[in-house]
Amino acid sequence: MESLAQVDPEIAQFIRAESRRQHDKIRLIASENYVSHAVLEATGSVLTNKYSEGYAGKRYYEGQQYIDKVEELCIARAKALFGAEHVNVQPYSGSPANQAVFVALLKPGDTILGLSLAHGGHLTHGDGISVSGMYYQGVQYGVRRDTGEIDYEEVERLAQEHRPRLIICGHSAYPRLLDFERFAAIAQGVGALLMADIAHVAGLVVAGLHPNPIPHADVVTTTSHKSLRGPRGGMIMCRTQYAEAIDKAVFPGLQGGPHNHTTAGIAVAFKEAATPEFRAYAARIVENAKALAASLQGEGFRVVGGGTQNHLVVVDATSMGVTGRQLAKAMDAAGMVCNFNRIPFDTQPALHPSGVRLGTPATTSRGFGPQEMEKIAAWMAQVARVRADEGQDLEARKKVYREIAGHVKALCDGFPAPGLLYGPEGRLV
Ligand SMILES: *Cc1c(COP(=O)(O)O)cnc(C)c1O
Repeated sequence: MESLAQVDPEIAQFIRAESRRQHDKIRLIASENYVSHAVLEATGSVLTNKYSEGYAGKRYYEGQQYIDKVEELCIARAKALFGAEHVNVQPYSGSPANQAVFVALLKPGDTILGLSLAHGGHLTHGDGISVSGMYYQGVQYGVRRDTGEIDYEEVERLAQEHRPRLIICGHSAYPRLLDFERFAAIAQGVGALLMADIAHVAGLVVAGLHPNPIPHADVVTTTSHKSLRGPRGGMIMCRTQYAEAIDKAVFPGLQGGPHNHTTAGIAVAFKEAATPEFRAYAARIVENAKALAASLQGEGFRVVGGGTQNHLVVVDATSMGVTGRQLAKAMDAAGMVCNFNRIPFDTQPALHPSGVRLGTPATTSRGFGPQEMEKIAAWMAQVARVRADEGQDLEARKKVYREIAGHVKALCDGFPAPGLLYGPEGRLV
């Protein structure tokens, strides 16, 4: 970063500080990861200089000799990884990918049926504060109170009652595998299209650790930057019959020129994801999430749904006498970064919800295993107990958080993270 330090020392310093933060802290945000240095190099390349509206062989600008090859390679790798018939790698991120599907398949006012935000769904699945719920009629299903599992009977009932044009399955905070076959049967029964949004679990899908929706869904969307460990981006996969509508919706319907540097970074990530090493990595993600859930339960936390089958754990912080927001803020002060989250049937308001969401893709990328998960759970319990203790003043609490942050940093020093730059003695540069 020599030129950057010279041209813009302020931004350079913030990037260095963020790099330090990503080394020193335990990153438990379920949607985050560490991309490889190869992915960073592709993403930071001169491909950002090129305009290429259109698709390979059908561009509106000349000079696409290499850009076409990059995009075609990225598409070919995606098809091989997921078994998709048609792929569009141009969406700028996950939300625009979903929006493009709506532009392609729906008319404004059409009904979409998706998992509610509070039960682990995503804003773009028909929530009222997102375009998906403002321009379309969003109907929302949830999970069962007794099992924490998606209430497939409710999905079917709502589908029959509301006759949606599109049913969406997929989530941002649901710790179980999805039954795509069952969703497909429900969609077929009411003449709806099925979209699966695998933004969170795409890395597990390519590793065979989560069912693949491709045989069952008409359209599958994903991000590239979560468990898939690529740069930030989005992708749409679909059956050939929807290819033209999807491509037209992305460009010119919704977007202009694709971000070619991102496409190259995604292609590199796909190459990495096709290796046996990545499959082993994905298996460790799940193993770690299970270990984390079990350790947290051992510490007295209530884990929503009783455990996990994927990469994430939703924890009811109120089981330790704190709100999710209080726990998330205190954990950050103690060197462990997560986000507060609503839990199913939450009685608390959205800004002060009952839960926190934890994920293991990032910690697994730096080599953490079940032993480290045990330590994280113990530190989290200590943080929660101190935060809940009315007898402790702010300074006493802060002292405990600082102590834990010190232990966290010492642990992190033993686990260099992909993509960060380390000097000869293993020190971050
Ligand atoms: C993260 C996520 C998205 C949105 O991705 P952005 O890249 O943040 O726009 C869409 N759907 C689901 C299920 C997600 O978890």
